[in-house]
Formats: sequence, C-alpha cells, structure tokens
Amino acid sequence: MDAINPEANRCDVTPSAALLGVGAFAGARSTSTGQASRSGPTPPTPSSAAGSAPATRAPVPLAPPEAQPPDLKLPEAVARKAGWAVVGLGQLALEEVMPAFRECQLSRPVALVSGHPEKARKVADAYGLEPQNIYAYDNFDQLAANPAVDVVYIILPNSLHADYTVRALKAGKHVLCEKPMAVTVAECEQMIAAAQQANRKLMIAYRLHYEPLNRKVMELCAEKALGPIKTFSSSNGQNVTAPNIRLSATLGGGPVGDIGIYSINAARYCTGEEPVEVTAVAHQPEDDPRFREVPESVAFTLRFPSGVLAQCDCSFGAAPSRRYRVHCAEGFIDMDPAFDYRGLRLSLKQGDEKAELLIGQVNHFAAEMDHFSDCVLNGKDPRTPGEEGLADMRVIAAIEEAARTGRAVRVAG
Ligand code: NAD
Repeated sequence: MDAINPEANRCDVTPSAALLGVGAFAGARSTSTGQASRSGPTPPTPSSAAGSAPATRAPVPLAPPEAQPPDLKLPEAVARKAGWAVVGLGQLALEEVMPAFRECQLSRPVALVSGHPEKARKVADAYGLEPQNIYAYDNFDQLAANPAVDVVYIILPNSLHADYTVRALKAGKHVLCEKPMAVTVAECEQMIAAAQQANRKLMIAYRLHYEPLNRKVMELCAEKALGPIKTFSSSNGQNVTAPNIRLSATLGGGPVGDIGIYSINAARYCTGEEPVEVTAVAHQPEDDPRFREVPESVAFTLRFPSGVLAQCDCSFGAAPSRRYRVHCAEGFIDMDPAFDYRGLRLSLKQGDEKAELLIGQVNHFAAEMDHFSDCVLNGKDPRTPGEEGLADMRVIAAIEEAARTGRAVRVAG
C-alpha cells in the first residue's frame, strides 16, 4: 500500500462532529493515523519476580525442551498466483502495469506480446520472464498452448481491443481489457458473447473501482449521506502531444473514449443509475494539426431517470485537471484529483463545515489485477465485467451522435 498522502493531512477546516457523523467518514479518519495499539503479556519486572515468588515454585526452564523456540510461527501455504500475459508494451504497460506486479499478492507476469522483439527481451529480462514466453502479434494465438498463462491483459490502442480480446478468449484465457472496452457498442456485445461462449471471464480495467477513495464516494452516495444527488459535474483534461494513439481516429482515439469515460463512469457509479439522454458539443480547431482527426474538447450533459443532471467536459489541449463534484441537497462531495494514478483527495462540505477524508491509498493497478486474479483462481465474478464497459460505450455512442447532429440523443438500453 502506498504511504498516506502527506498533503492529505492538511485539513483547512476542522471537521465538526456533525460532518464526521457522516457514515464511515469518521471511521476512515482513524485509519489515517496508521497507529495500531500493541498489547501482549507484560514481562515480569526483576523486583516482582524476585520479591513475590514462593520458595516452593518449580524452577523456570532456561532453554526450550525441544531445542527450538516454543512460539515459533510456521508459514501459511503461499497462495497460487495467476499467470498474466501483457499485450502491448506501451506507456501504460511499462510505466504502471509491469511495476505494479511487484505489489501484487495473486498476480505475476509470465508472458509478453509485442511487435518489438528487442524491447520485449529487455522487459522480459527486467522481470525475470522466460524468453520462450515472448510472443509477437502474428503468433498471438499460440498463447492457447501456454498453460502458464491464465489471464491476458489487453493494453493496445482502442481499435484493437475487441479483436485481441475475442482471440484471447477463444484461446481459452481470461481477459482484462483496458478502457474504453472497444470503439462500438456492437464490438462490446461481441466481446461479451465470446466470453460466454468460451466460458471465460472478461473484466474491463476500471481501476477506480478498486481504490478506496472512489469506493468511499460510491458508499456515501448510495447511503445518501448528504441527501439526494441533484447535479454532478466533472472535468478531465490533459495536453496530448503528437504522435499519440489518442489523436488517431483509425486507432479509436478522441477525448471522450479516452478521458471523458472517467466522468461518464463516475456519474454512473455515484448515481447508481443509467443515463437516459445526452446532449453534447465538440470543438475541433482547424489551426491545430493535432486535431485533424479527433476533437480537441467535448462538453456533454447526461440526464438520469431520477432527474440528476451530469455536466462534464474533456479536453486533449488543456493542462491536467481531473475532478468531479457530487452536488447533493445538503452538501457536496469533491474528488480533486479524482482520476489520477495516485494522490487522490476526497472532501465533503455541509453548511459551513468542511472535512477531508484521510485514508491510505493503494496501487490501483495492483489492486485491480489482484481482484481479477482472485476471480479467476476462486471462481468469482469481477466487479467491472464486460457489461460495465458496454454501458459506458452506449453513452459514448450517444455523445458522439449528439455532438455530430446537435440534437439530444436517447441512450440505447
Ligand atoms: P501507447 O501508445 O503508449 O501503447 C500502445 C501499445 O500498442 C504500444 O506498445 C504499441 O506498440 C502497441 N501497438 C500494437 N499495435 C499497434 C498499432 N497498430 N498502432 C499503434 N500501436 C500499436 O498507449 P497507452 O497509453 O499505453 O494506452 C494503451 C491502452 O491503455 C489504451 O486503450 C488506453 O485507453 C489505455 N489506458 C488506460 C489507462 C488507465 O488508467 N486505465 C491509462 C492509460 C492508457
């Protein structure tokens, strides 16, 4: 587990008893101290041992009778780790996913798939993988014959997710596929059907479902800790430099599927509802060569059945900012940053009272991979299955249509 974000210890306003009364909020603060009281037998002091022992007491044994410490703790059997094949050795795979395996309890890398043999050999060396477990895209299907591989993790450009996911499932492997699940609703449906046919598990890599602060927001929203939700607002922006798969329409780029999806998914997990209608506006500047194929910025509104309105924007031309606010009848919940890999912050405001939740953070990728390994090893269902990716893709498709036509679009259900 990462160290507690030291900045999170700064609380602008001391939380009142009323605000701390919000469900698990108060309890979670106590975890921030990281202090556990230690208790155990108190050794006798020399004076009590010497002073109060009756003269008839048997002599204390001075060495263990069987020549080994009497309270020796024997190790538990080491849990079997699922073997993972990582497909696509780009930025996310090399900078986040491969290092995260070091923090996993149930997952270990055993194979790589890459179009660049030299790079793959270096990565295999660094992580102690067997050279015969390096595959290229043209012999990808031979993964079927490798019993060390339980799970295939697809970290490719979005337009390739469906094809490689379906092939990995047909090869008899379980699949974790990066977000967005694919580039069309039809592809998502094919991936779900392929998992059913192969009787294998399919999970979409929504890492925020596996980290404690976003999970706490889900809980607070579900228990209406600050009253019913009225509006939700979210912004996710970053400056993308060319060349980048995100700028290619052919590879399924564009800001909505890449980063707008975080706001869509958060609006869905905060409300617990599926949006019924969207409106959207996109801007594609003609004087910026990065945006020949995809918009720079998209603003969109989601309308939920309960009446909650979610107002979101995403941009590939803006300074990094990744946040959301859940605006409730009696206060609001802020996550800022909300979507980064680390350093997330959660605060609540009710009346004049403001408080920040202090809680130890985890490596999102290690937590997500171990969740899926647990599902695979122990026959459980993943928390973010293919259906979660499909639900977001339905919203993305409606946003694209709304931006193209300028009309409000119903979300297909
Ligand atoms: P990247 O461009 O750095 O990596 C893509 C990899 O795919 C490269 O190794 C590239 O060589 C390989 N590739 C194979 N065939 C290709 C082709 N035809 N064209 C281009 N590249 C090809 O991208 P990335 O940032 O690592 O993103 C990869 C995936 O991970 C995307 O789906 C992205 O949405 C997702 N992602 C998720 C998160 C997250 O937080 N969950 C963060 C970043 C990226």
